[in-house]
Amino acid sequence: MAVSRRLVLRAGAGAAVAPLLAPAWAQVPASSVVPAPAPAPWRNWSGLQQCQPQRFFVPADEAELAQALRSAPAQQRWRCVGAGHSFTPLVPTDDWLVSLDRLSGVAPGAAAQTARVQGGTRLAVLSRQLDALGWALPNLPDVDVQSWAGAISTATHGTGRNLPALHAQVQALRLVTARGDILECSATRNPELLAAAKVSLGSLGVIAEAQVAVVPAYNLHRRVWLEPAPQLLERAPQLAQQHRNFEFYYLPFTGYAAAITHDIDDSGQVLDAHAADEDVLRDLRLLRDWLGFAPGLRRKVAGWLIDPQQTEEARNRAWKLLSTQRPTRFNETEYHLPREAGVACVKEVIAALEQRNDVFFPLEFRFVAADDAWLSPFYQRESCSIAVHAAAGEAHAYLLSEIGPIFRRHGGRPHWGKLHDLGAAQLALLYPRFQDFVQLRRELDPQGRFLNPHLRQLFGEKA
Ligand SMILES: Cc1cc2nc3c(=O)[nH]c(=O)nc-3n(C[C@H](O)[C@H](O)[C@H](O)COP(=O)(O)OP(=O)(O)OC[C@H]3O[C@@H](n4cnc5c(N)ncnc54)[C@H](O)[C@@H]3O)c2cc1C
Repeated sequence: MAVSRRLVLRAGAGAAVAPLLAPAWAQVPASSVVPAPAPAPWRNWSGLQQCQPQRFFVPADEAELAQALRSAPAQQRWRCVGAGHSFTPLVPTDDWLVSLDRLSGVAPGAAAQTARVQGGTRLAVLSRQLDALGWALPNLPDVDVQSWAGAISTATHGTGRNLPALHAQVQALRLVTARGDILECSATRNPELLAAAKVSLGSLGVIAEAQVAVVPAYNLHRRVWLEPAPQLLERAPQLAQQHRNFEFYYLPFTGYAAAITHDIDDSGQVLDAHAADEDVLRDLRLLRDWLGFAPGLRRKVAGWLIDPQQTEEARNRAWKLLSTQRPTRFNETEYHLPREAGVACVKEVIAALEQRNDVFFPLEFRFVAADDAWLSPFYQRESCSIAVHAAAGEAHAYLLSEIGPIFRRHGGRPHWGKLHDLGAAQLALLYPRFQDFVQLRRELDPQGRFLNPHLRQLFGEKA
């Protein structure tokens, strides 16, 4: 059988820098308003969400955006798009779709160790430009193709017991509202607006720029190893305490999990990583395709093929290690649990997943620190995050119908950009400042110009 003995090594976890996905409108700078090239619709990364906007609007600057909003008819609807990496239908509109791809770049902020970042800046570009200034973000998500504004708008996060999601480092931002006003907010100026706007799903207006606290550029040392899953699950809280960044991937129907740690590295050495994620996925998929009908045999064969002695190490700039490539497309759900519920919850999720012989994608378990943004899933709560994936084009309804209820029994709050089916009534119970947010949204955008059907469901607004 061609299944590699490297099966277990998610390894690579990839040092390769993710290529930027160039959206269609990035190549049309001559005019800001571009007729949508029919019949090409907009699609998100996984292909699950699609729409045919009437117009793509790619303003040259904040002033052009504000002017366009001021002069547009009141009934015109607007949605913002970043890199289209959300799985939920946050972006789709059949009216105007605005992209800040021409608003990209980083400049030193007013205060020490801060940077002003334009909303359309992709995270990969942001990391490189910060590095050139001797700075870095304290943490990064799995991939870095997202736009800065899109990433903070859904509370995008990495892993680390003491490391919060990206938006928690935002100290000030500039918001272009439905009326075409430009509002500035910070800890001293409109602090309530700042707390609401950091994670706002593009529903309060367009984030043109956000100032972020940065840290001196740093190197990390990564270690990847395999461990029997029951043992690693028990050790997870302790490992999260011992390492700056700790996460694990459970490899379904193998009994093993791959642990990944990153710690500050002052050795000055560079040790390249080897990206083997795709090989691992291919092997897990083959095992499912060939032996999915016989789970006992599938486990046994996986046990023979896995070499638990294999480990991997890498040393490099943090941004070169923390974010990796994801060539294989998938759909995903992720919930954020109270930290003390994480391990119990993941055990139930694994048991439910292994009732389904079609599952092969690894499950991801991470740690995220608390923050104070009103709609942050980490609002005043130290959290564990559990993400479950299904290959694009394969069944994924069970992520909502079978896995979602387990997360909710453990007090989970859904990732705004990943599949969930919650509406306003449930969200109001999960977010102490939910009604304050809804009220503020109505004040800023009484006509609902920035709403689409999904956001209406989230905020309990009539169509
Ligand atoms: C392969 C992959 C890996 C991922 N890894 C992680 C991970 O490790 N951690 C994690 O937390 N998430 C992860 N995600 C989810 C992803 O980070 C979020 O969905 C993020 O919001 C996507 O950013 P984007 O630029 O693609 O935004 P989009 O998906 O295009 O938009 C997201 C939201 O932001 C709004 N928005 C965009 N630009 C603006 C703006 N200028 N002003 C106001 N609102 C705006 C949109 O209207 C929408 O509501 C991953 C997704 C994929 C596909």
